Amino acid sequence: MNDKVNVRPTPVLAIHGGAGTLLRGAMSADKEQRYRQALEAILLHGQAQLAAGDSALDVVVEAVRRLEECELFNAGKGAVYTAAARHELDACVMDGHDLQAGAVAGVSRTRNPVLLARLVMQHSPHLMFMGAAADELARAHGLEMVASDWFGTPERLAQLQMAQQTASGQLLDHDGQTQAGQDSGPIDEGTKFGTVGAVALDARGHLAAATSTGGMTNKQPGRVGDSPIVGAGCYANDATVAISCTGTGEAFIRACAAHDVSALIEYAGLDLHEACRRVVIEKLPRLGGRGGLIAVSAKGEVCLPFNTEGMYRGQVKVGDAAPAVGIYGEAFI
Ligand code: ASP
Repeated sequence: MNDKVNVRPTPVLAIHGGAGTLLRGAMSADKEQRYRQALEAILLHGQAQLAAGDSALDVVVEAVRRLEECELFNAGKGAVYTAAARHELDACVMDGHDLQAGAVAGVSRTRNPVLLARLVMQHSPHLMFMGAAADELARAHGLEMVASDWFGTPERLAQLQMAQQTASGQLLDHDGQTQAGQDSGPIDEGTKFGTVGAVALDARGHLAAATSTGGMTNKQPGRVGDSPIVGAGCYANDATVAISCTGTGEAFIRACAAHDVSALIEYAGLDLHEACRRVVIEKLPRLGGRGGLIAVSAKGEVCLPFNTEGMYRGQVKVGDAAPAVGIYGEAFI
């Protein structure tokens, strides 16, 4: 027997609440504080879970469930509206331990789409369900169901109305609030991608990722972005990295963004930061892709890159005195 102590990296959790254009001046200090506190509270809870030995999968699902429950972010409660003034929610989870994944697209009655994505992963031979059949699966398994208008908020409705008045006719979550003259968040609500996500490394060395979104304001009914697509908006592999993305979904799908970071580490031997830089700073902009991602490597390194002006983001390791939360600033902290 080899008695060498197997030193594992410290467990770590990173989360995001979307990326976009900065509006430092336009935002009230109070609103900025609400975003920071929401992120910190979710990170602290995840830190306690990781310290107690919970799996990375449990931790990312719970972090995203809490982000879905927070109406500041475009997922679950507070999700954006489609062009038909409805909600169509997408989510994905992936377990890096065995490369199992589950996803749902276009659900409108399931309170927490991330829980349904996990259910699909664990209780179905299939990987992805869509629409009414996905909601029916949630109901059959006893997940909490809500009326289809439960996800909406007056702010999101104002965003939709604003989007429908613009020439382009389509806004990306946070762009709309500013244009509607509302008290904006720190990131321009009219240009922000509000998808939420979490990635974690646990005490056993396993990685997991989860992503959840309402998509884009005024999206055509039936449109699905990158968030529920394994390898585009969500990916986890114990051999490399766990990733959750936010941004212009079509470009992230074309870039296979999340898997591309993993592939650059696995096949090209790049380190985490360089792999993230290639995808977020070099590749995505060439495809018109705006946004960012959060990444935790198998070694416990964290990288939170974005090519927009800001991204709601944070990270915490077991043993840290406090979580680190960022909105503006350096793209890689
Ligand atoms: N990526 C999401 C989508 O395209 C949008 C977002 O990140 O806010 O549906």
